[in-house]
Amino acid sequence: SRYIALTEIPQGLPRQDQFTLREQSLDPLAEGEVRVRNLWLSVDPYMRGRMSGVTTYVEPYALDAPMDGGAVGEVVASRDQRFASGDLVRHMAGWRDVAQLSADRVEPLPQHEVPPQAYLGVLGMPGMTAWTGLNRIAQMQPGERVLVSAASGAVGSLAVQLALAAGCQVVGVAGSDAKCEWLEGLGAKAVNYRGKDVEALTQALAEAAPEGIDVYYENVGGPLLDAALANLRDHARIAVCGLIDRYNDAQAGDGPRNLNRLLFRKARMEGFIVAEHWAHYPTFLAEVAPRVAAGEVRYRETVVEGLERTPEAFLKLFSGDNEGKMLVRLDAS
Ligand code: NDP
Repeated sequence: SRYIALTEIPQGLPRQDQFTLREQSLDPLAEGEVRVRNLWLSVDPYMRGRMSGVTTYVEPYALDAPMDGGAVGEVVASRDQRFASGDLVRHMAGWRDVAQLSADRVEPLPQHEVPPQAYLGVLGMPGMTAWTGLNRIAQMQPGERVLVSAASGAVGSLAVQLALAAGCQVVGVAGSDAKCEWLEGLGAKAVNYRGKDVEALTQALAEAAPEGIDVYYENVGGPLLDAALANLRDHARIAVCGLIDRYNDAQAGDGPRNLNRLLFRKARMEGFIVAEHWAHYPTFLAEVAPRVAAGEVRYRETVVEGLERTPEAFLKLFSGDNEGKMLVRLDAS
């Protein structure tokens, strides 16, 4: 099988030459194992943290070894009674074309009328993250004023729509006019952050949310967090989901200049890790999947073709070259 390995710990934005495509021969299938032909690979911003050589809340990627990540594929051989050839499954042995792993680490895809790769995006980890951050962390209430950063991405675009569906007023921040137009089409107000310093961002958010912000769904950090803090209402909640603006920084930058606003506004800012909320995944799925299947919740995908282009797909997350969920499609032949 072919896989992608990291060959060097990147400093700053990773370079494509720090990844390599390798081949390995697979052992004969052992009892209790399945072999899966991967159809869709997920690339996600958290993977940058795994490239730093240090353990955060996940193990770092080992150099020169197959990388991993979410994937959807088809079982092509099974020595476990729970799976048969042809089954569509989800697992974490991505970044490769063929995965061979214990059946305990493979799950059948839920059965909703959606394309299989939706279980890597809107109905997978990113979707679950949006739902968790809004409902379980920020405890969003109907009618509140909700700000979402990286709003047109996999997590953000569902957060925007869940907040709108809950009767909230929503402002989404994104990095292009086209993304902003898409957000406006959903019924949100949109702010393009490109070319705006903290003052201009603060002003733009104040114009988009003149009554201030009750809930900030934070995906970005950096200057946007300053601007959001400056626009908080009393008892605001910030769900700290991600801080992608800082993921490539070799050294931590200065903290928010105005963290005192959190104190002044008696606000709460709380971090979370979606994996620790996974027991609620069935609740999320029951609530959101029928709406995705019915076309009430929209989602977009940016698809890059071919295993060898997985690093490129990953890196595009940091230049904003994805609209919606970034996916790699493998040659099905
Ligand atoms: P996205 O689909 O949103 O892709 C990343 C997007 O981030 C890009 O499209 C880009 O859009 C935006 N972006 C990149 N760099 C910057 C920057 N410097 N400033 C502002 N925006 C930037 O990815 P996901 O939906 O998968 O992830 C979104 C966030 O959620 C990430 O921070 C991720 O780490 C976090 N996350 C956290 C989890 C948890 O358990 N806490 C689980 C899953 C995700 P644009 O054009 O708008 O700049």
